[in-house]
Amino acid sequence: MCWLLVVLGVALGASIGSFLGVVVSRVPKGQSIVSPPSRCESCDRQLTAVDNVPLVSWLALRGRCRTCGATIPARFFLIELAGAAIGGAVGALLCSAI
Ligand SMILES: [Zn+2]
Repeated sequence: MCWLLVVLGVALGASIGSFLGVVVSRVPKGQSIVSPPSRCESCDRQLTAVDNVPLVSWLALRGRCRTCGATIPARFFLIELAGAAIGGAVGALLCSAI
């Protein structure tokens, strides 16, 4: 069962990292972090659920928009990766405490 805590920690951490990526991208521009939904900054196409899976989507799309091919900044992937690492570490710590 210990591995489940690590997997859940990675998934939760990557999701939190994804949200933080939105915050880092929008707050300096004075934009809402709630609306509009995630979209390509180049062609303005709203991202689908498949395009929004933390870490996996960026890798599957090779860091490019599915529609226009514009580069998706690596910072989104790196923030999600850092969140996943922190979440996994927390999960592992919880395992060792049990
Ligand atoms: Zn695009």
